[in-house]
Amino acid sequence: MKPDLFEAPDYYNIDDLLSEEHKLVRSAAREWVKRDVSPIIEEYAQKAEFPKQIINGLAEIGAFGPYIPAEYGGAGLDQISYGLIMQEIERGDSGVRSTASVQSSLVMYPIWKYGNEAQRQKYLPKLATGEWMGSFGLTEPDHGSNPGGMTTNFKDMGDHYLLNGAKMWISNAPFCNVAVVWAKDESGRIHGLIVERGMEGFSTPETHNKWSLRASATGELIFDNVKVPKENLLPNKSGLGAPLGCLDSARYGIAWGAIGAAMDCYDTALRYSKERMQFGKPIGGFQLQQKKLAEMITEITKAQLLALRLGQLKNDDRATTAQISMAKRNNVDMAINIAREARQMLGGMGITGEYSIMRHSMNLESVITYEGTHDIHLLITGLDITGLNAFK
Ligand SMILES: Cc1cc2nc3c(=O)[nH]c(=O)nc-3n(C[C@H](O)[C@H](O)[C@H](O)COP(=O)(O)OP(=O)(O)OC[C@H]3O[C@@H](n4cnc5c(N)ncnc54)[C@H](O)[C@@H]3O)c2cc1C
Repeated sequence: MKPDLFEAPDYYNIDDLLSEEHKLVRSAAREWVKRDVSPIIEEYAQKAEFPKQIINGLAEIGAFGPYIPAEYGGAGLDQISYGLIMQEIERGDSGVRSTASVQSSLVMYPIWKYGNEAQRQKYLPKLATGEWMGSFGLTEPDHGSNPGGMTTNFKDMGDHYLLNGAKMWISNAPFCNVAVVWAKDESGRIHGLIVERGMEGFSTPETHNKWSLRASATGELIFDNVKVPKENLLPNKSGLGAPLGCLDSARYGIAWGAIGAAMDCYDTALRYSKERMQFGKPIGGFQLQQKKLAEMITEITKAQLLALRLGQLKNDDRATTAQISMAKRNNVDMAINIAREARQMLGGMGITGEYSIMRHSMNLESVITYEGTHDIHLLITGLDITGLNAFK
């Protein structure tokens, strides 16, 4: 792979709106990605393997629980710093960002928000250092966009719960130490349970043959009469709103992360367009190529402003689910379109692993699907503005 020469575009001087802390956090993440991710990521994506050696580095840049209070091992940062970390990691690879998102927003967040003090003390510090890795089991083979239809269930056996069912498409599953699993009790109400590797009847087979997020491990969570201790139930929130609350936090991170992937594609295409000569001049001198680049930087700038404003609202605890949906949908769509255009600008070289664009493009196919598909987010906006439910 080519050396990482990334220079971040900031067409509207948005940096002026960031604090010194934001810039420091971003700079640490950016340097780490250049040093520890870019040189190895293409090889790991090609062989479809998560590079476990980067777990310590992810913990050191604060990617595991950026906004979780320091007393639980988190970085205690604000939401904009969290977003900037996700942006920088996804600039390297969406799969690596997925691992960090799951750990932070889908595992640490529910334990912090819905767990009791003993659960926080037991799990959060180990998750913050990456000593333990987590996964989040919501999607099932027959229930993706409609998670409320889940059939995974548990029965109260007096001194423990008995968990049965299966989850599919679960990031980090093959190597997770703990899984936050959403399942129905005997009355049909959804609860979160913390399931630990080693519990009898719990297995995590890996999903193979993915063309997307190849550097992220995906798998199933299978529960065959798993005895879950009663103290592993998250006591402070139940119902579908509990897992959806986690998704709000993760989708917010994705809205920033997608900007990172788009910036990398734009930056690569811009540099290439000034170096690649055809018909006696750099291809960047042709109007058609300039149109692509001009539209890319315009869309990136709009996405940056959207994410920043959303971050301000999140910091004030005012961001709504529908606002988060809009940003996730817009920014991922923006990134996938830029990846496609940027790849064309590199001609044949664009399909090789010499450059990051094709990998970003394939990765973004998962990002536009998970945490609510592109169409589902449109329906969330539609419901919010009309008050009419078009889901069913
Ligand atoms: C790489 C990867 C990693 C993932 N990681 C996780 C994870 O860690 N944890 C987890 O729980 N899940 C995870 N997922 C699952 C992901 O969230 C689901 O794939 C996603 O929610 C879509 O569900 P589905 O695949 O079952 O598609 P479906 O729900 O079957 O949707 C198929 C199509 O139908 C459309 N559709 C569905 N309902 C409607 C409707 N009412 N109106 C209009 N159109 C509709 C959808 O938009 C989509 O285009 C992951 C997925 C991938 C690909």
